[in-house]
Amino acid sequence: MNCYASIANILFLLAISFAISSYPHEPWEFFSIHAFDHLDNLDKQAEPAHLCGTTVLYATGTGVYGYMGLPPEKEWEKVKKDAKEYIKYAKSLGIPTVLGYLCSTSIVGLKNFDKNFPSELKAQLSTPPSEWLQQDIHGKPLASWYGGEYNPACMSNPDWRKYQKYMVKTQFEIGVDGIFFDNPTVHPQGCYCSYCMNNFLEFLKSKGEKISDTSLTSIRNLAQSKPTEFKKFRCTVASNFLAEIRSYAKQINPKSVITANNSLNAPEVIFSQCHKYGYNIKEMSKSQDFVVIEDMISAPRRNTKGAYIECSPAYQLVNSILGGKTLVAVTIADGDYHTPPNLTKLAIFEAFTQNTNYMLWPTWEESHRNKMIQAIGTFVQWIKRYSSEIRSSQPLYDVMIYLPFEEWINQQECIELAITRELTKANIPHIVISEENFHTYFSESNLLIASNPNYIPPKTHLPISVLCSQNNKTFIDGSKKSFLTELKERLPNPSLMLTPNEPLRGVVRTTRDKIYLLLYNLNIERISSYEDKVEPVKDICIHLKIPTAEVAKVTLYTPEFTQDITQWELTKTTPTNPYIILKIPELAVAGIIEVVLNFEGK
Ligand SMILES: [Zn+2]
Repeated sequence: MNCYASIANILFLLAISFAISSYPHEPWEFFSIHAFDHLDNLDKQAEPAHLCGTTVLYATGTGVYGYMGLPPEKEWEKVKKDAKEYIKYAKSLGIPTVLGYLCSTSIVGLKNFDKNFPSELKAQLSTPPSEWLQQDIHGKPLASWYGGEYNPACMSNPDWRKYQKYMVKTQFEIGVDGIFFDNPTVHPQGCYCSYCMNNFLEFLKSKGEKISDTSLTSIRNLAQSKPTEFKKFRCTVASNFLAEIRSYAKQINPKSVITANNSLNAPEVIFSQCHKYGYNIKEMSKSQDFVVIEDMISAPRRNTKGAYIECSPAYQLVNSILGGKTLVAVTIADGDYHTPPNLTKLAIFEAFTQNTNYMLWPTWEESHRNKMIQAIGTFVQWIKRYSSEIRSSQPLYDVMIYLPFEEWINQQECIELAITRELTKANIPHIVISEENFHTYFSESNLLIASNPNYIPPKTHLPISVLCSQNNKTFIDGSKKSFLTELKERLPNPSLMLTPNEPLRGVVRTTRDKIYLLLYNLNIERISSYEDKVEPVKDICIHLKIPTAEVAKVTLYTPEFTQDITQWELTKTTPTNPYIILKIPELAVAGIIEVVLNFEGK
């Protein structure tokens, strides 16, 4: 088969199948693939994105002019015309949602930034861009954390917001369905511009503070004398900006979507990024339709030192604070946005097990494109067969981990991340919950871990350890080094036991009459941008606790084959529910085991 015939074949097969897919929910919701269509010199990659099953495209377009300033009118018209044609083309492929790009804070080339602003925009502005910048305590512009020609604009500045709205409207006119806002960053020193200070004053008043001297100097002094309150306020700056822009966007198009880069470049910074850059994911999520995080190091894999890396614990923490909004994740390794085929499948599946959508970079060199599309496109199709049932299933857990997210203000380190990592590694079924959903899950769980026995959950006045003992639940102090040993003693019959345990990960989900075990193998090594090495796991033995001894059918689904498992055993029903014991000879990347139960009896 020659190269063109081969590509044509893939295009035909994948195009047919994605074209007939319907969207029972919004195209960005779980489960969906999101994709950036540009990287370095390669752009407009809507076609490979579509063939990999993408439903949300972060498109090449006019976004770069948002932070570079607009080009001369004729050039600007041409840029818009090209972008419009490309967006039309992307949609004609069948991609339902195409997003534009805007930087929330960057101005590059301040001196000439407004040189080519159209009169319609100029008429709305009352100050030049030099007055839109984030300011230090003396009102002087703060240098950008990027260095170079960048100047950070302040998201509270009304003229910057007017400019951003103009860019939103312009992008909507050329056909985008929403905007991805990059870098909604507050300077590490905090911004002391008059607009931020005015908002800080309102923030303090909303907390019941009475302030008599409301001069700019006095509020700046207050910001310095109340560092805790000022830090909390800084975490609302991006959220307020996004809320105003989102409300404007919905006025133009009620179905439009606004999302942002919520950072989380490494799982460890979930608390510290609130302190440093005002990136409070919980607060920011309130003003977004869905939430994007951009992990730079945790792509699941075995690294060259033989350690297993994973992003699942970070997904669990973040999902617990989003109030049900959809999480979308970039996760890469070695600073390379290109991930080889099997590692991409692994990353998609790991995200899938945690109700998280994967963000793809289908910006492959031509010589690799065909292979990547074939591998990823067929894998995504495979997952989509099960995604609606998994979406409607419930997580099965033996242990609840309490993440009091509001504690970020008191500490930079998130101990709950370490706890979640340990339980994930041990394959002990667990769930992470935070303040908002604490009471929904508390009644359901008999075992609870928190990093401090004195945390007081919302709407109670009791320390969590006392609350547990009053409700006949076991509390385990996760700050103790021995917590996992203690947990295992308290949980002699966990719902899942895997042999071997490493490098497998298993996540259990239930429906009314089925149990699903989502199983994946972390033993895949990254060789280069396009190559990886899979070490399949052999002779897997699974003990899965089930609520009845009546099993109708067991099936193993993998991307390579589907197999009825007819050889299985059941343990006795005492002292716990029975376990079904299954054996799988080999698992390459991922598999879904479906156990159909028969509550009616045979
Ligand atoms: Zn400001």
